Amino acid sequence: MDKVLIIGCKNTMDDVCIGCSRCLVGFNRRDGMFERYGADAQLMGLLSCGGCPGAGIVQRLAQVKLWNAPLDESPTHIHVAPCLSDHCPHADDIVTKIQAKAGIEVIEGTHPYLPPVVFG
Ligand code: SF4
Repeated sequence: MDKVLIIGCKNTMDDVCIGCSRCLVGFNRRDGMFERYGADAQLMGLLSCGGCPGAGIVQRLAQVKLWNAPLDESPTHIHVAPCLSDHCPHADDIVTKIQAKAGIEVIEGTHPYLPPVVFG
């Protein structure tokens, strides 16, 4: 069964993108980069980068593993949210580290609901 871990920007999650609802709704509806998943896929985590400059991201992945080990839960896919992949000045480094160390598929992108403009 596919189990998804979303990673986003600590500065943005829940404060700017309130409730992280667009990622969650996008997953529930299998919209955007979640179109690939079947009905039985599960969202197993929503993780922040840990804060600028994202130096602790690999340790945070290790913490996810440890924290979920008693539950026998582990992600099969990581999605990097647009708050991180599209707007973080450290995104290249962070995504490179995730790709190098996760050991599972890393997909850039989550929901498709970013408005193209503010006005108009
Ligand atoms: S390192 Fe990037 S993703 Fe993390 S809090 Fe800072 S701006 Fe956001």
